[in-house]
Amino acid sequence: MPELPEVETARRGLEPWLLNQRIRSAVLRHRGMRWPVRADLPRLVAGHSIRSVGRRSKYLLLDCETGWLILHLGMSGSLRMVPAQQVPGKHDHFDLVLENGQALRLTDPRRFGAVIWEPGEPAHHKLLRGLGPEPFDAAFDAKWLHARTRGRSAPIKNVLMDSHIVCGVGNIYANESLFRAGIHPSRAAGRISLPRYARLVQEVRATLNAAIAAGGSTLRDFVQADGSPGYFQQQYFVYGRQGEACRRCGTPVRGVRIGQRSAFYCPRCQK
Ligand SMILES: [Zn+2]
Repeated sequence: MPELPEVETARRGLEPWLLNQRIRSAVLRHRGMRWPVRADLPRLVAGHSIRSVGRRSKYLLLDCETGWLILHLGMSGSLRMVPAQQVPGKHDHFDLVLENGQALRLTDPRRFGAVIWEPGEPAHHKLLRGLGPEPFDAAFDAKWLHARTRGRSAPIKNVLMDSHIVCGVGNIYANESLFRAGIHPSRAAGRISLPRYARLVQEVRATLNAAIAAGGSTLRDFVQADGSPGYFQQQYFVYGRQGEACRRCGTPVRGVRIGQRSAFYCPRCQK
């Protein structure tokens, strides 16, 4: 499932192809995405230029002058640039066709992705307005985490994945950040000190930055028509490594369920 680093990698890969380009049309081959795509979308975007290619949480935001195109990759979506006349595959549900003959093509076998038109400020859209700060925002700091978690017995891993607290930290990166910060994923969020939260904020950013940097190496795949989605495989510290040796101390990594999600941790390195 695409997480924040994959979406940021896509944003960086696509920006040079899209920025300041004029839109010729849009092609809807399957309107039944996570939410039905507006049938009049082609008319709404035609003739406008893309003024910016942004990201909020896992949403890509294209400023199309009279409104915003909000794209989400869902569980299985990917975006790439293709020549507009290239024959679409079975799962190529949406094209944004540019005047220069290129097209931004959304491929999504499971159709949990989203293509949304927002005529106003995207920050006010119902999917975005309740979101907490971005992990790289100054507003996401130790004081914020500390203040928001006093009296809470919820496991820190769940809190880190709560988009009202900080957005875009999915399961993989929550597990990895907690390992790097030496914090046990089940620890009650209300019982973590300010200095430990300062460390956690650093490690969330370091983990995401490393993933974005790794994504950079496959950036070319993202914008070629070879069908490869461009996601990277990272060397994880704990994620998916149950029973394998901790990379720091050699103790076998444990796997448990916390809430509905899998958690992985080193019982020696994480307290
Ligand atoms: Zn360890």
